[in-house]
Amino acid sequence: MQTIGIVGAGQMGSGIALVCATAGLNVILNDLDERTVERGIEGISSTLARMVSKGKTTSDEATGALARIKGCAVLTELVECDLAIEAATENVQVKEAVLRKLDAIVQPRAIIATNTSSVSVTRLGATLADPSRFIGMHFFNPVPVMALVEVIRGLQTSDATFDATIALAKRIGKSTICVKNSPGFVVNRILIPMINEAVFVLQEGLAGAAEIDEGMKLGANHPIGPLALADLIGLDTTLAIMNVLYRDFNEPKYRPAPLLKEMVDAGYLGRKSGQGFHTY
Ligand code: NAD
Repeated sequence: MQTIGIVGAGQMGSGIALVCATAGLNVILNDLDERTVERGIEGISSTLARMVSKGKTTSDEATGALARIKGCAVLTELVECDLAIEAATENVQVKEAVLRKLDAIVQPRAIIATNTSSVSVTRLGATLADPSRFIGMHFFNPVPVMALVEVIRGLQTSDATFDATIALAKRIGKSTICVKNSPGFVVNRILIPMINEAVFVLQEGLAGAAEIDEGMKLGANHPIGPLALADLIGLDTTLAIMNVLYRDFNEPKYRPAPLLKEMVDAGYLGRKSGQGFHTY
């Protein structure tokens, strides 16, 4: 594999671009318009600068990595990629539309992966003419820091697609767990309902946001509190994942907290909007 195409230059797409480029791969990073692509590349550039100042990479390596990332607002530029990763907004219609286009653009030998946090990999794969080349490659936020990639096989994913995806994850320095397709997969099935419960606790007035986070850090030894983690993930993405769990399992225990919905309606999306359960 030489060239990775990435659709979506938000926090995840940018992070995936950074780790691929620092591993020596060429990256084509796509988003809806030039400005969003530029913002993504600016974010990558400042993360690389921070990594240099902390001694995690050299200045030459950072410059080389940045030079390997090409931004584009036109999806057809992904024509030569060996593997395309869809990292667009967590919305099934958006993802299906992107995947249909990618299927027509990339070479028949190319693998198509999704970084969805919750949507069925089998369902998304069914949008492709050849679903055997489709797989879930679920990174964690912030991508340069978090070691894990969940690799999710859809019902139609081939062994060749699976093996090549595992090899790529290793090449970019990630550890993998292999997971069956199911709403939220493994990590988010456990993590996101816990965050949702923290929102219920806040909503019921049992404690303030700072106390809830402090409680889980000191009492459960979590490195970050659940509400601060929701802010990091993005409240829109957190709500989208809860909605998928609620709808697909059809169980009341997965109902999203009304306060979470209200925050999203208000445009309070967490770190990316400057305001969430905490202020940034
Ligand atoms: P984000 O809001 O930061 O970025 C999403 C980007 O997708 C935006 O820049 C948007 O303009 C772009 N986009 C939307 N439609 C597009 C299209 N048709 N073509 C090209 N680009 C398009 O969101 P994010 O946090 O980066 O999440 C992206 C995906 O990664 C989601 O599926 C999310 O569930 C998943 N994910 C998120 C996290 C997390 O912690 N935030 C972790 C793992 C996986």
